[in-house]
Amino acid sequence: MLNSENVLNSAQLEEAIKKFVHTFCQEKHDIHSQKVTWYTDETQSEKIRQIGFPKDGRPVDEVVAEMSEEVYRYRGDANHPRFFGFVPGPASSISWLGDIMTSAYNIHAGGSKLAPMVNCIEQEVLHWLCEQVGFTENPGGVFVSGGSMANITALTAARDHKLTDETMHLGVAYLSDQTHSSVAKGLRIIGIPDSRIRKIPTNSDFQMRTEELEAQIQTDIENGLIPFVVIGTAGTTNTGSIDPLEEIAAICSNYKLWFHIDGAYGASILLSPKYRHLLKGTALADSISWDAHKWLFQTYGCAMVLVKDIRHLFHSFHVNPEYLKDIESDATHINTWDIGMELTRPARGLKLWLTLQVLGTDLIGSAIEHGFDLAVWAEEALRDLDHWEIVSKAQLAMVNFRYTSEDLTEEETDLLNERVSEKILASGYAAIFTTVLNGKKVLRICALHPETTRDDMRTTIHMLDTFAREIHSSIKKERLPEK
Ligand SMILES: *Cc1c(COP(=O)(O)O)cnc(C)c1O
Repeated sequence: MLNSENVLNSAQLEEAIKKFVHTFCQEKHDIHSQKVTWYTDETQSEKIRQIGFPKDGRPVDEVVAEMSEEVYRYRGDANHPRFFGFVPGPASSISWLGDIMTSAYNIHAGGSKLAPMVNCIEQEVLHWLCEQVGFTENPGGVFVSGGSMANITALTAARDHKLTDETMHLGVAYLSDQTHSSVAKGLRIIGIPDSRIRKIPTNSDFQMRTEELEAQIQTDIENGLIPFVVIGTAGTTNTGSIDPLEEIAAICSNYKLWFHIDGAYGASILLSPKYRHLLKGTALADSISWDAHKWLFQTYGCAMVLVKDIRHLFHSFHVNPEYLKDIESDATHINTWDIGMELTRPARGLKLWLTLQVLGTDLIGSAIEHGFDLAVWAEEALRDLDHWEIVSKAQLAMVNFRYTSEDLTEEETDLLNERVSEKILASGYAAIFTTVLNGKKVLRICALHPETTRDDMRTTIHMLDTFAREIHSSIKKERLPEK
């Protein structure tokens, strides 16, 4: 008979858990002085493959230690204060505690029967977030695993609200050349192919050009197509730019289109009293995506999709129309399987609730504001140095820049900046990657960690500068023999 007591009694289990928690907390305690390094080679994967699957179980201590040594050590640590790549995920330990509690009880949060209070808390959090967005009438939402899922959930609601079986093949969606790839991916999944996805160009601040948006909508209508959704971004992943939300909303209202905001990265600034004005216009959208595992300091697998009118989610995802009555009479008894894609799901909202309760909204607001400071500090440090061009100024918690010199060709400049990124990664001090803006390779910093200091930022920039100069002179030397 399968009985875990044969392998591990409850006292040993408790011991193993305590030991892990202790080791983890130690590591976390001095994260600041640790390297942001995780590179490995094929030999490490080979080592893992060699482990195989034992016929008889192994001691828990041994396997846990092995995983710490051989698995977890090799990770791009998006929690590290000097991880400036992607959009980092500086998760609060409070969120982690929420994860431990939630997984300990392993609650089935799909329906309100098995998880009435989970349901109640998640709805409370979602409604509070809707208030921040400005959705007031019949709002709602659902917790999902990430921004990609939030986008596809909202886009499905948009499709079902605006198109029918007969017009599906004519529906056109509008996004910008800076929109996150998950949006076009989501559109393709719900039946809108690339040929009916319009990529509207952006201006020099990487914001959607609304006059081109409108012209494109008109052209499509003239050609017998049916525009149905515009996706604006509140905080693009490349530069942190915010599309002109109010202008897009006006166009959507004119042409009766669904307005979805991808706020996976930027929606969190709604919780900053100082910067929330930047997102003026969110209230005019039909739906918004919001990643809590980015700038709301949650561990992975935590995002929200919020809608102005919860009935749209119900319309797309319900499995039993009877529930429509419940939803209208008592929003706390919503079964999330009726408003989203998942049936069995973890209670993702509990850790966010715990974080909001323990830290309080003021502290969270200032932790978010710290990201703005970090980007400004990086930009200031760069402006003090020669050869550094700011390609996209500090916006939200991001800045894009590149090393340039008159004696370098465009190709060499691209290569140089790429190599600077490789060198800082290899140094282990900080993680910075490149992206492409206006056809040029640029370095990109996105800094969200509340514990990143001004000194971290200054040292990072100076290291970049040293590396860039070294590479610059080596490029010149490589060229010499040709001359
Ligand atoms: C990160 C991001 C996404 C995707 O979110 P995931 O949680 O990674 O699925 C979508 N849109 C924007 C703007 C993002 O920054």
